[in-house]
Amino acid sequence: MSVRAVLALGSNLGERSDTLSHAVADLVDTPNVRLCAVSPVVQTKSVGGPENQPDYLNMVIEVETDLEPYKLLEHCQSVENKHHRTREVRWGPRTLDVDIITYGDLKLDDEALTVPHPRAHERAFVLQPWAWMDSHATLNGVPVGELAEAAGDLDGLAPFEPGH
Ligand code: ATP
Ligand code: MG
Ligand code: MG
Repeated sequence: MSVRAVLALGSNLGERSDTLSHAVADLVDTPNVRLCAVSPVVQTKSVGGPENQPDYLNMVIEVETDLEPYKLLEHCQSVENKHHRTREVRWGPRTLDVDIITYGDLKLDDEALTVPHPRAHERAFVLQPWAWMDSHATLNGVPVGELAEAAGDLDGLAPFEPGH
């Protein structure tokens, strides 16, 4: 059985744009995960965690997958690890973060995997690219564009223009 899932990618260390491109390629480099849609890349001020972190690049993708939820999480983490993700400080700078935002209509409340992602509804850096990718998308029944407008971090977000 295959399911549509939305994944959010973020990077604020190293060659951020290259990392995101390679990570998308790596995520769908298996017959079990197929790319359906890709959002624009946005540049965002970091939210939470240590002060004065470099800006993030963020994007979301939609995939169709045959992987069970925890297998998909493992797959996302293996792609993070390939891009030298380390976990020293909570919400600290990172080469790559890949989060599962939704997995079909599944609701799961587990520390190792909570879907929908418990903080996605308040994060413009997830919601705005998602709304641009899929203008009909909803999260917990609310259009993601509306949630983005209400998100506190919307001001710190701009479309990413490479070379600027
Ligand atoms: P945030 O969850 O606020 O975006 P983060 O992405 O920086 O923070 P990580 O260090 O990447 O947090 O992940 C911490 C743990 O969160 C992971 O070990 C993972 O098991 C768990 N987790 C729970 N729900 C999810 C989810 N929907 N997607 C990815 N990881 C999740
Ligand atoms: Mg995250
Ligand atoms: Mg994460």
